[in-house]
Amino acid sequence: MPQLAQTLPSEILIEICGYLHPVDLYSLASVCKRYRNLLWSKCSTTTQEIWKNSRLRYVPNLSMTPPAEMSEQEYIWLMLILKKCMFCEERNKFELTMYWEFRMYCCQKCLDDRTVSRHTLLNEWNVHDFLLSCFTQLQRSSNPRDPPLYLIEKVRATLNDYNRLSKDERPQWIKNQEKNISRLQLENEQYNNIHDLTRYDHTERLERLLKKLHEFYTWPKHRSM
Ligand SMILES: [Zn+2]
Repeated sequence: MPQLAQTLPSEILIEICGYLHPVDLYSLASVCKRYRNLLWSKCSTTTQEIWKNSRLRYVPNLSMTPPAEMSEQEYIWLMLILKKCMFCEERNKFELTMYWEFRMYCCQKCLDDRTVSRHTLLNEWNVHDFLLSCFTQLQRSSNPRDPPLYLIEKVRATLNDYNRLSKDERPQWIKNQEKNISRLQLENEQYNNIHDLTRYDHTERLERLLKKLHEFYTWPKHRSM
């Protein structure tokens, strides 16, 4: 196999890729450096086409194109191939959730480690409340006991951007941020739904829903508002 991996002409290799499921493409990328270079390039249109065709052919629920800043293979990895928490070794899929707002598929603990609540931002970080609408927020449910969360890393970066601006530039910057974030809201919701359809079957979706309901009614939650 290693020898064949080196000698197979590129055109044939690309043609073979056209028949493979995304999971097989992912395995193929780990065979050798040559395949990795072909399948892992984020800017090659050939690579993007290979993954896109495989996605459309084999994963009908994943027909929505990835967001502008995300490559095909990153998208498929996050939506389908990743089988554990992206930060720790948790593999129980009932303990894992997609938080598309933050581009994260992870367990509750890893989410908690990386996020901050509205209350903490206002009272401990002393962030002005008019800036809250400039951060991407995760609203897990409409339940008031389930307050929105913010990604620490993103909040820091956004605050840095804001602090670098002159006083005159700030109002317009805030408007733009708000506009961007509300534009993404609907999109995020769509990707979260697509993810659930792609990753879980009917029974699993039902089980997750029941689990969520159970959590909803077992107050108190472990974190502050
Ligand atoms: Zn984790």
